[in-house]
Amino acid sequence: MPGVGDALADEVAQRRERLIETRRYFHQRPELSFEEYETAAEIARRLRDLGLDPHEGVGGTGVTALLRGQAVSDQPTRTLLLRADIDALPISEEADEGVRPWRSQRPGVMHACGHDGHIAIALTLAELLMARREQWRGAVQFVFQPAEERIGGALAMLADGVTAHPKVDATLGLHLWTPVPVGQVSVAAGAVFSSADEIWLRVIGRGGHGAMPHLAVDPVVVAAEIITALQTLVAREVSPFHPAVVTFGSIHGGGAFNVIADSVELHGTLRAYAPEDRELLRRRIGEVARGVAAGLRAEVEYEIRGGCPACVNDAGMAALVRRAAIATVGAENVPEGDQRQAASDDMAYFLEEAPGCYFFVGASDPARGIDAPHHSARFDIAEEALPIGLETLARAALEYLAV
Ligand SMILES: [Zn+2]
Ligand SMILES: [Zn+2]
Repeated sequence: MPGVGDALADEVAQRRERLIETRRYFHQRPELSFEEYETAAEIARRLRDLGLDPHEGVGGTGVTALLRGQAVSDQPTRTLLLRADIDALPISEEADEGVRPWRSQRPGVMHACGHDGHIAIALTLAELLMARREQWRGAVQFVFQPAEERIGGALAMLADGVTAHPKVDATLGLHLWTPVPVGQVSVAAGAVFSSADEIWLRVIGRGGHGAMPHLAVDPVVVAAEIITALQTLVAREVSPFHPAVVTFGSIHGGGAFNVIADSVELHGTLRAYAPEDRELLRRRIGEVARGVAAGLRAEVEYEIRGGCPACVNDAGMAALVRRAAIATVGAENVPEGDQRQAASDDMAYFLEEAPGCYFFVGASDPARGIDAPHHSARFDIAEEALPIGLETLARAALEYLAV
């Protein structure tokens, strides 16, 4: 790998303590989606300290900074976008001050997904690439994205042109990931995170007396039929080789045990990995719900209220990250085969803009009790994951931007 070599491991090791300190700093000061004011100001301050000229207020509360390499060559240069999400969740951290002195200082708000670590890795990477500026060329667009948890920050930043000026040629990002043990890096071509769509249905009947159903149209019974019918879509209309999920997490209707309601609201989520499955299910949910309702004299209003596509990695960029991961943790710690994860992330939108790779850095250590799922009040990461993430990302970026 030209220009990278083993010196990089030392450069990462020198920054290990600062990296952990930075993660803890942001862990103590979590902020919710689109409210990351202090987080963004601190990121910008640290970027300015490096000599960069960050832009604040991008896509709401996001920050970007462009770092240019100084190596000289007559070949055309490329721009690489590095994305780190920065928001926290409305969760009260369950951690003992004695065990975890860096726990959240804000009741009800917590970095329970590892985005504090993503900020720390990206800031440290900026510093490392700055120090190596003469050994690479082209540019790195650092994107500190707000509101990943609510799915909205990526589109807001794209609307502000973060991939257009300069035009981005490739994208990279990582997620610290406790389903994978610390020491391993999970990287694959193709879909790695599913799409996610928020399904909203209102079943409209005609209310009445519970003892006189023949004079009413009962939307509760119709809703029950619709939910059952929709479960057959994945079972009967999607290929058995393609995973997909339709879940209704919320049903609301009626106010009294002996009154037939006027309407019922169903609220659910749709997940798929193949774009064609997503498209099919989005369409068929409406068709089946309307068809069932019509057969039972009711009506349906149907909306997809928000969502994002699957995260689909480019084969070439995934191969680049795989080489970087193997150089960092060894081939035995970079598993082969299916690496799909059952979650979603609006990194998907950046991956649609330019070929890229979103990969997972193992962050659990069950022997030390660090194995809580993401979004749990007991969530924590094994901090050894931070230098692994940094080194993998640095190697991938430096190979991409090699002279
Ligand atoms: Zn999350
Ligand atoms: Zn996350």
